[in-house]
Amino acid sequence: MNEMDQKTVDFSAQLEALRREFAAQLVDTLDELNRLMAGRGPEAPRELLQQTCMRLHKLAGAGGTFGFPELSAQARKLEGMSKKWLDSALPVPPDQWQTWLTGLRALSLSIVVQDEPVVAKPLPVLTTSRSAVRGEVRVSMVHSDPVLSLAMCRGLGQFGYTVVSYPDWRSAQAGLLGDPPDIVLMESAVIEGGSESIRQAVEQWVDRMGRRATLILLANHAEFTLQLLAAKVGAEAFFKLPVDVPTVAARIESLVLARGPQPYRVLIVEDDEALAEHYCLTLRAAGMLAEQVNHPYAVLPALHKLRPDVLLMDLYMPECTGEELARMIRYNGDWQSLPIVLVSAESDLVRQMQALRSGADDFLVKPISDGQLVVGVRVRAERARKMAELMSQDSLTGLLKHASIKERLIQEVDRARRNGKPLSIAMVDIDFFKRVNDNWGHPMGDQVIKTLGNLLRQRLRRQDSVGRYGGEEFLAVLPECSELDAARLLDDIRRRFADIEFRIGENGFNVTLSAGIAVCTHGRDAHELLVDADQALYHAKSGGRNLVYK
Ligand code: GH3
Ligand code: MG
Ligand code: MG
Ligand code: MG
Repeated sequence: MNEMDQKTVDFSAQLEALRREFAAQLVDTLDELNRLMAGRGPEAPRELLQQTCMRLHKLAGAGGTFGFPELSAQARKLEGMSKKWLDSALPVPPDQWQTWLTGLRALSLSIVVQDEPVVAKPLPVLTTSRSAVRGEVRVSMVHSDPVLSLAMCRGLGQFGYTVVSYPDWRSAQAGLLGDPPDIVLMESAVIEGGSESIRQAVEQWVDRMGRRATLILLANHAEFTLQLLAAKVGAEAFFKLPVDVPTVAARIESLVLARGPQPYRVLIVEDDEALAEHYCLTLRAAGMLAEQVNHPYAVLPALHKLRPDVLLMDLYMPECTGEELARMIRYNGDWQSLPIVLVSAESDLVRQMQALRSGADDFLVKPISDGQLVVGVRVRAERARKMAELMSQDSLTGLLKHASIKERLIQEVDRARRNGKPLSIAMVDIDFFKRVNDNWGHPMGDQVIKTLGNLLRQRLRRQDSVGRYGGEEFLAVLPECSELDAARLLDDIRRRFADIEFRIGENGFNVTLSAGIAVCTHGRDAHELLVDADQALYHAKSGGRNLVYK
């Protein structure tokens, strides 16, 4: 059994255990509910009615999730009746009271166990690849031309990709299946000229990998039938040879980024622990990072710790309502754009609008199936990430914008002060960039900027940040990095960048960069650090360019 199946089974077994536990306690829960109201008439104390109403509400929500739809529907009906009485100042009509009490006693009759438990079906697991965990991108090259393979391996290696090459599909197959890379660059002859069985094997492999690995085809011609064949096999990109390395690297970068290697993070706030646990397991089974808190007081610390993409919150809790909590969370500047989704059996439109006004973004209505929950959360998380990206990212390079990288610098300077670790920054500027534009045109200039952006992103570590500071100027923020290490790193990037050959028709050209490094010593603030780095950059320029100075 592979790792993926193992995970699926694990989650579904836990979910099933939760369901059983809920079922086992059901009889006691209903007994207690009836005892609460035993011998009471229409003039029963309001607190008691309130309590019963709350319990019915819980039953209605959890019953649907744990596979008791009949019970859930009955409980909802009774909850609705009692809520109406609570909202009104008038005495409860005795005949209605009787109907209600009878309904309460009859609840246990609606415990119909479904043949097929709702939660037993395992959901597909989207595991993040090993590469995503290690923060590296692995490429396999399958091509019969050793010269081309070598050039591609070397070139992509410059960008920081780990490349392995195979001469044909047969020799590649075991590696591609056993320890899948992120990207496979394959010559089109494998599917075009090769045997039908190999073509099928490729197709199956693509199918099996899903989003974990991506196929790119390299072809000697771009005839329609070949491109169609590529699409049928499931290739994500198609290049006609010759193709230059920066172009392939750019495509790899965007494919890997689009895959979103970071799983979505979800915080669940729900006072019913079993239900919260169920949501958690369901979302985890779908590849997300889900955490739960069962008390409103725990929300703010949990938000800071998890930094979720989505907050999933119960509308009714003992201490406060979801609306109140949503409003409170919005007081904090950090959580202004966090999507808050209220989960509740609330079908009252007025109440929903009220909640939206106080800071919630959206509703999921209980009972909610596992599939609805996963899709509902995933689309909201996707949208939230996209919005955050659009707001902070430069459209040409996908790096942070000027304001965002400066903000990051200020945060990192603060952190360095607290933890006493060295913080270095690098200001990077392309040499004689005006000439690139003049000689090769503005679009080619854009490609050079984009290429340097990709190279920086590839070479820096996960905790580093890099942004486009100006036109052809970049700022890298390197926490826990000494000045010497920063200079070494930037010098390596300088050499790699100078080695990249840009091609335009028959012509090729190279571009260089200069960089200035500064380190954050005691008491220096972000502004002074930037001035230092700028000065070092100025010296690198006047020292002859293609240099890294500190
Ligand atoms: P130096 O080595 O001293 O840095 O010389 P330089 O030519 O790079 O000088 P400078 O920094 O003054 O020139 C930057 C040029 O970059 C000016 C501007 O036209 C161009 N530029 C700025 N943003 C973009 C962009 O987004 N795309 C393109 N193609 N060019 C840009
Ligand atoms: Mg609740
Ligand atoms: Mg310049
Ligand atoms: Mg400049």
